[in-house]
Amino acid sequence: MTSANDTTGTGLVFHDRYLQHNTGLARSGSPAVPYPYADPEPHVSSPRTVSRSKHLIDLSGLGEQLTAVAPRYATEAELATVHDRAYIARVRAIAAQGGGDAGVNAPLGPDGFAIAALAAGGAIAAVDAVLAGTVRNCYALVRPPGHHAVADHGLGFCIFNNIAIAARHAQRTYGLQRIAIIDWDVHDGNGTQEAFYADGDVLFVSLHQDGLFPPDMGLLEQVGSGDGVGKTVNVPLPPGSGDAAYAAAVERIVSPIVRQFAPELLLISCGLDAGAFDPLGRMNLSSLGFRELTQAALALAEECCGGRLVVVHEGGYSQTYVPACTLAVIETMAAAAEPWPDPMLTRLLGTRTRREVGLDAERTITDAITMQRAYWRL
Ligand SMILES: [Zn+2]
Repeated sequence: MTSANDTTGTGLVFHDRYLQHNTGLARSGSPAVPYPYADPEPHVSSPRTVSRSKHLIDLSGLGEQLTAVAPRYATEAELATVHDRAYIARVRAIAAQGGGDAGVNAPLGPDGFAIAALAAGGAIAAVDAVLAGTVRNCYALVRPPGHHAVADHGLGFCIFNNIAIAARHAQRTYGLQRIAIIDWDVHDGNGTQEAFYADGDVLFVSLHQDGLFPPDMGLLEQVGSGDGVGKTVNVPLPPGSGDAAYAAAVERIVSPIVRQFAPELLLISCGLDAGAFDPLGRMNLSSLGFRELTQAALALAEECCGGRLVVVHEGGYSQTYVPACTLAVIETMAAAAEPWPDPMLTRLLGTRTRREVGLDAERTITDAITMQRAYWRL
């Protein structure tokens, strides 16, 4: 890794402690039901996808081009910009008692409070590095993820809402007003949506698989409330949408809205579970599709806010494909001269959803445009 003060470079936040976050063993269906086989299986949100992503970053040589950005522990006051004090105390108590569930399927072990605070602090450190000009953009490869966590409980493997806490940090510490968050995790970023639902200063745009998780969240008609009306944008794409539908949704909805909102900082909730082969998603994105999403984000950041872009790792569960897609995102951010050749890509380039927007996806995009035309020129 290069040293600091490289204002044109890309930063990477990582800490070995992220791999110590212990989600336990796999359960079948309900978290209360044990896995039915004798040989133990790791939890679907095991450390493996993040550790392999870091491994591939280093193995590919990309790591040498990145600036290491050290995470720190988010303070209680920082966590409390998004979460209730009672919830923060509860997570601390659960960890002190040896671990448990911070809400609904949000497991943590005895070190879980500290590690979750280090994940939130990793997103904060990425914002600091970009806003201080140490790097041009920054990827926070943190664990546990955050975008499902709401004010008073954890949800879907998320303990604290890392990206929402980072957005509040950017406003409070640097006096920024308008921040845009794009969430391309295959699940809806319900926690982030909820944190800013009535806030006109934070634009939240979510591309996700329709009807997946959580139930009844990320709906087209959820557009914000009060001062925040029109500042929540949901594009619930049908299963199987693929690269072409994502590119069309970005070109026709996401980019024009972000451009008109004109943020002072762009944040991305980067789930890799819309990737092909993911056991929890059915969106069939290729690593090239992730490169294209990242290029669109870079172009928006360039146009609106001097290239200031912070990308925060969220979900992603394919042990073989998440590392390739994570690498594709960071290589694009760093404008890597020789991208690592994704061995799975040739198979995906031939799929129809690489080239064509399906009829159902086209209908969703059209419906989202109709819904958002009340607030934006589309
Ligand atoms: Zn997800």
